[in-house]
Amino acid sequence: MSRRRMVYEGKAKILYEGPEPHLLVQYFKDDATAFNAEKKAVLDGKGVLNNRISEYMMTRLGEIGIPHHFVKRLNMREQLIKKVEIIPLEVIVRNVAAGTMAKRLGLEEGERLPRAVVEFCYKKDELGDPLVAEEHISAFGWATPPEVDDMVSLALRTNDFMCGLFAGVGIRLVDFKLEFGRLFENETVRTILADEISPDSCRLWDMDTNKKLDKDRFRRDLGGVTEAYSEVARRLGILRDSGDGADVVDFKGGSK
Ligand code: 5GP
Repeated sequence: MSRRRMVYEGKAKILYEGPEPHLLVQYFKDDATAFNAEKKAVLDGKGVLNNRISEYMMTRLGEIGIPHHFVKRLNMREQLIKKVEIIPLEVIVRNVAAGTMAKRLGLEEGERLPRAVVEFCYKKDELGDPLVAEEHISAFGWATPPEVDDMVSLALRTNDFMCGLFAGVGIRLVDFKLEFGRLFENETVRTILADEISPDSCRLWDMDTNKKLDKDRFRRDLGGVTEAYSEVARRLGILRDSGDGADVVDFKGGSK
């Protein structure tokens, strides 16, 4: 690992050059940050869980025709991905009022929204990733109108699929954040899903108890962060019970 050239280091992941020019290796760190990195911690095993959960989500989404960057999992913390040019936007889909939307619009957290709402934030740490309108996106050239259409439609399809997937294991998908990239192939450019889909980027509540099974446990000092991520992985069938009560990663399943 030390010999590879690092391409980019983010708050929770590192990108290294891949074995071919069109590929990268995405490494999942245990680092957790919140509130624009004002709050930091290292959570043992978080990177391993997010690597597995993101692999699972991207693979399932690929099966219904959502294009994504995931190629294969390499080991506990790394996956091979397609190199894309990241579109500098966070695409947030919300089903239930929570987080910044609840605060901004004075909604009660937990209130179901009349329909799924898609928001865009400009990816700029210095500004705290501000909410932007489609007007800003086209005026400043962050994405073209057809790319915005692609992102909205892929985000809503992803939402429909993930709502069902999580509902099947007793979890309410409150909201989540996606990132997209431009994949240059031959003479064409395609908009594909990039980054990760994990409890770091989703709000996931137990359907019966409303227990938070996501990064809000870290943001709000609720404790039991990796235990909650393990619970998500276990319900999705990514982790199995070893028989002595300890969850273990099932190395046979899930990766190709
Ligand atoms: P909110 O805008 O309410 O803070 O977040 C909405 C959803 O997007 C939540 O599921 C949250 O986890 C996710 N999200 C928003 N911004 C970020 C970010 O910068 N990083 C990650 N990992 N998730 C984010």
